[in-house]
Amino acid sequence: MKQDKRLKILLCNEASFLSTGYSGYGKELLSRLHQNPLFYVAELACYGFVNDTRDKDISWRYYANAVKNGDPRFNEYSSNSENQFGKWRFEKTLLDFRPDVVIDIRDYWMNSYQAYSPMRQCYHWMIMPTVDSYPQQEQWLDTYSGADSVFTYSDWARDVLLSQTSNQIKYIDTTSPGIDINKYQILESDKIKESLQINPNNIIIGSVMRNQKRKLIPELIRSTRLLLDKLEAESSNIASRVFLYLHTGYPDYLGWDIPALLKENRMLNRTLFTYSCKGCGNIFADVYSGSRRNCITCGGDATLPTVTDGVTQDQMVSIYNSFDIYVQYSICEGFGMPQVEAAACGIPVVTIPYSAMEDIVNKIEAYPVNIATLFKELETQAYRAYPDNNSLVEILYKFINIPFPMRFQKRLKTRDLCVKHFNWDNIAKKWEKRLESILEQKQNSPLNRYDSLRRMSTKPYLSVENIINSEGSDLSKLSKICSDYLNGTHSIDSYFILNILQKLKDGFQMENQKVVGYSWKNAVDYFNTIIGNNNTVINFLNQNETISEDFIEYAKIKDSKNE
Ligand SMILES: [Zn+2]
Repeated sequence: MKQDKRLKILLCNEASFLSTGYSGYGKELLSRLHQNPLFYVAELACYGFVNDTRDKDISWRYYANAVKNGDPRFNEYSSNSENQFGKWRFEKTLLDFRPDVVIDIRDYWMNSYQAYSPMRQCYHWMIMPTVDSYPQQEQWLDTYSGADSVFTYSDWARDVLLSQTSNQIKYIDTTSPGIDINKYQILESDKIKESLQINPNNIIIGSVMRNQKRKLIPELIRSTRLLLDKLEAESSNIASRVFLYLHTGYPDYLGWDIPALLKENRMLNRTLFTYSCKGCGNIFADVYSGSRRNCITCGGDATLPTVTDGVTQDQMVSIYNSFDIYVQYSICEGFGMPQVEAAACGIPVVTIPYSAMEDIVNKIEAYPVNIATLFKELETQAYRAYPDNNSLVEILYKFINIPFPMRFQKRLKTRDLCVKHFNWDNIAKKWEKRLESILEQKQNSPLNRYDSLRRMSTKPYLSVENIINSEGSDLSKLSKICSDYLNGTHSIDSYFILNILQKLKDGFQMENQKVVGYSWKNAVDYFNTIIGNNNTVINFLNQNETISEDFIEYAKIKDSKNE
């Protein structure tokens, strides 16, 4: 079989046909890896269904994870919160595809099940964890340390992971998300401003942020007021031309009360928003005039964009090009894509040198705002940054006083640096380089690791009574369970097992910030799930059967059309 020579790569992700950040990254990566004749590529699409028209253009092997309400399997699917992230079909997909490498680029709670699979020793686990603050939780670090290759979204994340694990994680490279540099381009500002109903002489301080707690929308509005006060006090003729442009949604779930903030800061007539018309599809910028108003072109229904009902990519490019300077103002970022989108349009960026935003300072020479303080946030138990508003005002004040030709030089420089660091082709090459080196290892030792699992024996389930009534300390009981029942998937000194020991001692655990009781019953239930999984896999491998589920058949049919 020709595919045995190739490196088999499975990417577990949301679904490459969706437009979320993870999905977009997955699509850019899969489409490039799929072109490489050394690789055989598959996707486990967590939000894809069998016979889903959205997958029609996918040309790599494709496993759908989701089932609809009404499907006889829906109860099983919705019984565990990890199933929507691929857990319930992961092992079946492994058994069918038998990948050499499993890649995941999502959050810890979406992919940690891959670290504890009974087939974990059969694949090279390659992850890119999202790291948006310091410190990272011990449990996450323990899991990341078990990965065979770790990529990071930012150099800042690399430094956090390496320092917190004393260099134990196997860091390979930083592979920040890229951008379509042909779509995001420098356009003629004056024309773009006019097309959005903005006076071309106006100086626009822009920001693209979701209306949520993490984003410092109130501080940005307040800082712009401080800047205007400063300019007005000097009787500067620039003052009347400076506007803040917030591309954000209102109202939004748990979002800021934007009209109240504008009023409080006397910014109602100095802050622009994007209005998008449902009738003619046109967009225009205007001061706040209700979350719903008439379209200036057709008189139809125009609203502020929301995350689910946004504007087109071309319209986004226009919005960025209407800005003179871009400000990212938030307490932390896993990456913060709008900064890169703005930079690709040559818009100089102001940002906060904490979390992934620090990379933006280093890579595209963004202006760093001084950090006033780092503070611990209750929900995440991690540090977040509060910027110094006066520092932002100083940066903006200096920038708008720079003569236009020099500002244009900064635009060209910003664009060049962005293309250099955030080009998808360059980013995908870093992954390919690592994958090709793994292929070399595979060719040197062509052991079929899935077949080696057959030699393992199945194990009986544990009973709570037997555990409680047996001799020895909790530690010695856990040690026996690890060595005799779990087929090497968990070691006694792992954070995971030591954490169970601690929970048994405390008698409680935290679940979604609630305190709930914890006893041997909980531990045994958990171990029995692992034992059950292990047994299923071993039985399956020994019977040498094929899986007859619709999503496996679907993967085969689609794949045969591609060959
Ligand atoms: Zn309209």
